Amino acid sequence: MLPLESALNQLKKAADLIKLDTNVLEILKKPNRILQFSIPVRMDNGTMKIFDGYRVQWNNARGPYKGGIRFHPKADLNEVEALSFWMTIKCAAVGIPYGGAKGGVTVDPKVLSQGELERLSRGYANAVREIIGPEKDIPAPDVYTTPQIMAWIMDEYSKFKGYNVPGVVTGKPIEVGGSQGRGVATAQGGFYILEKIVEKLNIDPKKTSVVIQGFGNAGYNMADFCFHAGYKIIGISDSKTAIIDKTGNGFDSHEIIKIKEKKGIVDVCECQEIQCSCQNHAHITNEELLKTECDILILAALENQITKDNVGEIKAKVILELANGPTSSEADEKLFEKGILVVPDVLANAGGVTVSYFEWVQNLANYYWTEVEVFQKLKKIMVENFDEAWKIKEENKTDLRTAVFALALERLALAIKARGVV
Ligand code: GLU
Repeated sequence: MLPLESALNQLKKAADLIKLDTNVLEILKKPNRILQFSIPVRMDNGTMKIFDGYRVQWNNARGPYKGGIRFHPKADLNEVEALSFWMTIKCAAVGIPYGGAKGGVTVDPKVLSQGELERLSRGYANAVREIIGPEKDIPAPDVYTTPQIMAWIMDEYSKFKGYNVPGVVTGKPIEVGGSQGRGVATAQGGFYILEKIVEKLNIDPKKTSVVIQGFGNAGYNMADFCFHAGYKIIGISDSKTAIIDKTGNGFDSHEIIKIKEKKGIVDVCECQEIQCSCQNHAHITNEELLKTECDILILAALENQITKDNVGEIKAKVILELANGPTSSEADEKLFEKGILVVPDVLANAGGVTVSYFEWVQNLANYYWTEVEVFQKLKKIMVENFDEAWKIKEENKTDLRTAVFALALERLALAIKARGVV
């Protein structure tokens, strides 16, 4: 199932639950604007390559468009549309004053040199410069885009305007207006939600096994938070391999992080210089990792990982979505029937955009906060909106995704009606 189809099924289900005004529903089914363009990039060997780029602005009833830019070989329009729709829901679900957007470039950034990556990023900024800006649309990092890329985009946009505009993108390095805490914010927000889940289900972290799919910014930091809180991490993966613990003690996140930094892969087995053992784990496929028996499965990779094809074999008790769209809408139904609690992306990974919001506020005010202040404010937002969504779930005996969507849709409907659009 294509991501956009899943996304629109989720919308329909929540709209039915709250009897959303049909005109509001019609508005939310479509993006406000799609910009599709090509980015010519001079490669290091002198040849020219043309990359496909996108920016989809889904809805801005609640504020400027907001959402990341993804550099990925499989990025395409359907995916970027779905992601921009989810940003609309996400920002409304945590009550931050933004609409939703997303960008993408179909590229494998891992094969580009730094110079090529910089020219591509500046090319992207030039292609979208008329439609972005602190009051219009504020991009940010997403899969395979980094603070450095945000700095280039900010620099290119500032050159176009003729003055410094830090608030045009978030997720920047601290030196050029980034916020304290933004680097770990997605995982930190997800961890606050995990703490709420543990509290609701009355389980002990020390007796809880965790499997984490994905070792990018979100997965990597989540592994660290979980390890320090005493959870037992029994399986982990990156885009190249997956490993499963054989000792029963779980993985030490420091060891995995060290290996990943050194070798670019979570392959503890082949390490030589730093201490590690080859006996303590086994390699499995990504598919096997998802089917591992565990308490909490954290999805921190890409869309469509749990689908109608593998949902029957999922043995986790809770699924926490740090990635966007990792569970298809068909799989969702089955998980609900099986009693598996899914903590949806639009809440679980909203910590990233929430600290992006703080970054933008700090840029506009030119006044910067400490990390402690950032995390206090983040926790409050995550916990309060979780509590509201949980209440909706209990009252309506529905799944948590539909409850979070319901919360977001009520807020979107109020804004759309207040403006007199409907
Ligand atoms: N790409 C992240 C997300 O999907 C962050 C977006 C942002 O900070 O604007 O939520």
